[in-house]
Amino acid sequence: MIYPYRGAFTIKTSVIWASFILSLITNIIVLSGTISFLIWLEQLSNTWINRFRPQVETVLCTIYFTYLWGESWLNSSVAPAAFGMHWAFLNMLIISSFLLNVYLNLPFATAAQVVLMIAYIWHYSKQMSFFTVIYSLAFIAVVFASYHWGTKLLQHPVMMYLGMDTMAVVSFALIMSIFSVPTDPYFWLRQLASLEILSVLGVEYTLASNRLLAHTNQVTELAKLDGLTQLYNFSKFDKDLNAAYENFQTNQEPYAVFEFDIDHFKQINDSFGHLAGNTVLKAVAQELAHFAASTPYQSNAYRIGGEEFCLIVREDCSSYEFATGLANHIRQRISQLAFKFGNSFVHVTVSVGQANSRPDQYNVHDIYKLADRSLYLSKQRGRDRVTLEGCTVNGR
Ligand code: GH3
Ligand code: MG
Ligand code: MG
Repeated sequence: MIYPYRGAFTIKTSVIWASFILSLITNIIVLSGTISFLIWLEQLSNTWINRFRPQVETVLCTIYFTYLWGESWLNSSVAPAAFGMHWAFLNMLIISSFLLNVYLNLPFATAAQVVLMIAYIWHYSKQMSFFTVIYSLAFIAVVFASYHWGTKLLQHPVMMYLGMDTMAVVSFALIMSIFSVPTDPYFWLRQLASLEILSVLGVEYTLASNRLLAHTNQVTELAKLDGLTQLYNFSKFDKDLNAAYENFQTNQEPYAVFEFDIDHFKQINDSFGHLAGNTVLKAVAQELAHFAASTPYQSNAYRIGGEEFCLIVREDCSSYEFATGLANHIRQRISQLAFKFGNSFVHVTVSVGQANSRPDQYNVHDIYKLADRSLYLSKQRGRDRVTLEGCTVNGR
């Protein structure tokens, strides 16, 4: 059944306003829902999503843009003017395209917007005018610019608004080159008011969510660190030990744990005070951090307790020479540190215990227990020495 009404009937002003307000409310809900959903996705962290996040976001964005362009197409097909009586979906397209390009920086989703726009123009432009071509190219340029300079724009709210306004002007020009603007006197008032409301909502919500995301990431990073030494703390050690164990079980990639304990540390506190003790802890931590940062293989340093430190080394340390060399190098570097407290010069030594990943480990903590037992033997056998898997090296 075909209804012969397109372009041939009049609409009451009150109906236009009611329809405008309702679709504005709908747009506010859809826009804030979409931003919330994508930000939730950005924060979501599991192995699968970490691996496929750009692909998932690209698919979702493309579906979202297809929905917006599809709705615009349906509206234009049934209503007497482009995008219905008020260009609600055009506003959504302008704001969503701009924000998603800036925020997510996805090349394929950006390309999808251009393809959908061209398909839409192709469908409606009976004869492609010169201006339609020029405005289409300008639209593509703005879409590309918002993608290319997204990260920079996100840091400058004023630039965000300017960019979005540019996109709005180009989009209006493009649509006006295909359709005639509805003739009621308040059309532009409604159009610009809804664009303004939606863009302020979109930009401010995105910026606020981005600040919150940065803050959450910063807090998450800080939660991994030890406040005094800035080395990773015990919970990060535990997490990394788990990861190394899993990796060894599945990929047979070997790793080793080196544990360090400062000898007679309590005496430093007792003789020179806790602040002096803290100075020693920070200097020892710095030595370990330097070492971890300088190795060609992956290694991390941790403060796992008061004056106890660990290294997780993601390398085969089962060679006696290699493990001895590594442990003695750190032990000697620490023994060369010189501290001046009052009139006294102080040196410290460390005892070291080490253990390697082995197929007969029953759980993730076995290696740590073995390293700890070796450290205990180093203490028992005179301190300032290295014990590799129960075998003490004369490190002097
Ligand atoms: P050992 O050679 O057997 O390891 O003896 P030790 O004195 O080093 O070991 P002990 O376990 O007896 O003492 C460790 C001391 O470390 C006790 C505690 O007050 C001190 N300590 C723990 N955390 C901190 C800290 O953050 N700052 C300071 N200054 N001292 C700390
Ligand atoms: Mg101790
Ligand atoms: Mg100690």
